[in-house]
Amino acid sequence: MNAAFRFDNTYARELPGFYVAWKPAPAPAPRLLYLNHGLADELGLDAAALQGPAGAALFAGNTLPDGAEPIAQAYAGHQFGGFSPQLGDGRALLLGELLDRQGRRRDIAFKGSGRTPFSRGGDGKAAVGPMLREVLIGEAMHALGIPTTRALAVAATGEAVRRETPLPGAVLTRVAASHLRVGTFQFFAARGERERLAQLADYAIARHDPALAGDPERPLALLRAVAARQAALIAQWMNVGFIHGVMNTDNMTISGETIDYGPCAFMEAYDPAAVFSSIDHGGRYAYGNQPLIARWNLARLAETLLPLMADGDDEAQVQRAVAQVTEVIDAFPALHAAALLQGQRAKLGLDAGADDDAVRALADDWLTLLHAQAVDFTLGWRRLADAAAGDAAPLRALFAEPAALDAWLVRWQARAGDPADAAERAARMRRVNPWVIPRNHRVEEALAAASDDDDLGPFERLLDALSRPYDETTTPAAYAEPAPAAVTACYRTFCGT
Ligand code: AMP
Ligand code: MG
Repeated sequence: MNAAFRFDNTYARELPGFYVAWKPAPAPAPRLLYLNHGLADELGLDAAALQGPAGAALFAGNTLPDGAEPIAQAYAGHQFGGFSPQLGDGRALLLGELLDRQGRRRDIAFKGSGRTPFSRGGDGKAAVGPMLREVLIGEAMHALGIPTTRALAVAATGEAVRRETPLPGAVLTRVAASHLRVGTFQFFAARGERERLAQLADYAIARHDPALAGDPERPLALLRAVAARQAALIAQWMNVGFIHGVMNTDNMTISGETIDYGPCAFMEAYDPAAVFSSIDHGGRYAYGNQPLIARWNLARLAETLLPLMADGDDEAQVQRAVAQVTEVIDAFPALHAAALLQGQRAKLGLDAGADDDAVRALADDWLTLLHAQAVDFTLGWRRLADAAAGDAAPLRALFAEPAALDAWLVRWQARAGDPADAAERAARMRRVNPWVIPRNHRVEEALAAASDDDDLGPFERLLDALSRPYDETTTPAAYAEPAPAAVTACYRTFCGT
């Protein structure tokens, strides 16, 4: 292990015309705020060698590591339903790729490293608060076992970025399975660049679905693979109460990783209509809409693949291709529902002995109860594990009118299986129902201390708690408690611009 990144940059090498080579803007006074030691180790890097002034200069973009070939990637995207033919990395740069210790190819990218040819009106910069937010939520998702991009480092630039008020600037170093998005396909489809689309599809397959490389119907197979990954991903979001907040097609990956922690938030009291983003007026990206939006986004991906599946002048071919992709898109809700149910089955502590219909009815009625009584989603599930162990009191205390819960508990216990296995079942449930999630008020508190007072203590303590989300014995209850309802009612998140 050493400090050197062993770059092997396939995107830059194989896809000329898909990006613009560009350099990060220099930072006046770099300072390392955060370094992810575990992730550095995974990447085969020596964290110790990345600390101090050398690490700060590197992660602020002032000294490029050997082998880095920074590029701004082109992409398009539907933002809140409206199509922008050119978005692209307006404040990000892909430095390159490397193979991690397990042989997985990982992108290393900057966010907040200055203007690029894709910046439009933006300054290309990012602020300390939103970049540390990306660390907290990304690491929380990772610890929850949810596919996600992750933060390797955050460096303060020593420069103020102009937002509503001046804020301390920062650069995030992001690690991703790739930065291929639905919007990447849309960029070339919108320009009618069929050859490049085909190249992109083959690149995506080589990177994420190498088993499909020989498939005679590769684009269709790719669509199926992406749909399967997204169905599983969104189900995992739903089962922890995660609201992405800005599911534009440029923020949906081909890899199936969660990307872009801007206005995201975790739900507190269960409510399918929950939405926190200040710009999501219509609730397009509300909690309960996420599976529908994923499907909508996949339909946009499907459209881009049609030119690869049929000669546009051959009506029969076109109709066949449309029918094929429609089948995949139409199958998405069932795919997602199955993944959701599988997660709910585990969260309910039910084993294979309970049939799907019974599990679905129990899960639906449980959620209806949580909704009707505005019960905290995370604590509700967590306390259900206590009920499995024989102590229903902490769960009942979450309900204003526990009588309805009691009736449901009787039904649930009848399905739960052998009472002799209760302790083991409760332990299993505690491994899938987290005790700690990034509570919005805790996140804000940590970011305010870091951004306003240069105090990273609250951020570090919260990050530590989030790295052990299932551990109730060592984590202070303060991290698990919901925000006061009045705080949640007024809580708004903002795109990290
Ligand atoms: P996002 O909402 O972060 O997914 O960004 C959507 C688009 O806006 C992407 O093309 C970004 O590169 C671009 N963008 C966001 N913030 C900035 C900024 N401060 N400067 C330039 N471009 C930005
Ligand atoms: Mg984005």
